[in-house]
Amino acid sequence: MVDLKSQYEKIKTEVDSAIQNVLDTTTFINGPAVKGFASDLEHYLGVKHVIPCANGTDALQIAMMALGLKPGDEVITADFTYVATAEVIALLGLTPVLVDVYPDTFDIDVQAIEKAITSKTRAIVPVHLFGQCADMEKITALALKHNLFVIEDVAQAIGAEYTFADGAKKRAGTIGTIGCTSFFPSKNLGCYGDGGAMYTDDDNLANACRMIANHGQSVQYIHDSIGVNSRLDSIQAAILKIKLKHLDEYAVARNNAAALYDMAFAHHPKLKIPTRVKNLTHVFHQYTLQLKNVDRSKLKEFLTAKEIPAMIYYPIPLHLQKAYKDARYKQGDFPVTEKLCNSVMSLPMHTELTKETINYITDSVLEFVK
Ligand SMILES: *Cc1c(COP(=O)(O)O)cnc(C)c1O
Repeated sequence: MVDLKSQYEKIKTEVDSAIQNVLDTTTFINGPAVKGFASDLEHYLGVKHVIPCANGTDALQIAMMALGLKPGDEVITADFTYVATAEVIALLGLTPVLVDVYPDTFDIDVQAIEKAITSKTRAIVPVHLFGQCADMEKITALALKHNLFVIEDVAQAIGAEYTFADGAKKRAGTIGTIGCTSFFPSKNLGCYGDGGAMYTDDDNLANACRMIANHGQSVQYIHDSIGVNSRLDSIQAAILKIKLKHLDEYAVARNNAAALYDMAFAHHPKLKIPTRVKNLTHVFHQYTLQLKNVDRSKLKEFLTAKEIPAMIYYPIPLHLQKAYKDARYKQGDFPVTEKLCNSVMSLPMHTELTKETINYITDSVLEFVK
């Protein structure tokens, strides 16, 4: 699905020397590379604070802790997402309130959010799924009206840019109260291990996140709140500092690949290509087709035999997962998500796809679906 090896080889000299520098200076934890990367990312995103942490799941958890969410508080998120989003809500004793998504963009349905708001609702967690922003203009307006926090799960959409009706532009993750991202190797900005970060313009919230990520410590050995231990290590930060310089060019490569896929599939009656919304950029973390009257598992087998990986993101809606079973939900409650889970298929998407490879993939898919 990704080709991290070829991508690494193009930046090998720079990356190797950055890693060597961390080794030579033995500044493994909280070294200058961590501050340097955070400050570069602040500049890139146009946000006041970037707080690095150990992974994207931690970023979501720390953000919710820093916002002071308490057991019993309801947090609205999408039924169609990676499990981490709902996991941290449940883990903190908050109540995950799941809502359906739009059938064309895969992003959280704003009308469904509005219907799910109760007196206990404290936050909305939109997930910018597969690299395209949720409808942030409407979501932030709704949040303002009901006095709710907006915690953006930007793990799949770092670098995406959202344009408001008035023409103003903002990067994904800098629109709501706080943005939470992941630097897992296969993410659009991936390190060579685990990593994550939160971003916000709010000084107090940034301080709270920094403190919670560091054992609730304000000054060494003074603990003001219960925290966690969640750090981005210096080697990962040094790698990310280099890869950040290439992020926009990586997004272009992903968009070029998506355009070639689109061209091959756009007019096929059994294939629905991913919908682009005009007012924002898509950074194609995944290229996800919807199949109509196609035997998906047979297609997957057919592609596997041709050494083409294909993945189902995601095969089971959250409300039908054993861990998230809840008397409030039953099969049929989120028809769009349920349908998507049965019909989506993601094709290889990364920065190193050549025209030849894409032709081979598209020809193979078309050969099967006829
Ligand atoms: C990857 C991902 C996460 C979690 O990130 P980790 O770094 O793996 O903890 C959270 N939400 C979404 C939507 C993701 O894709």
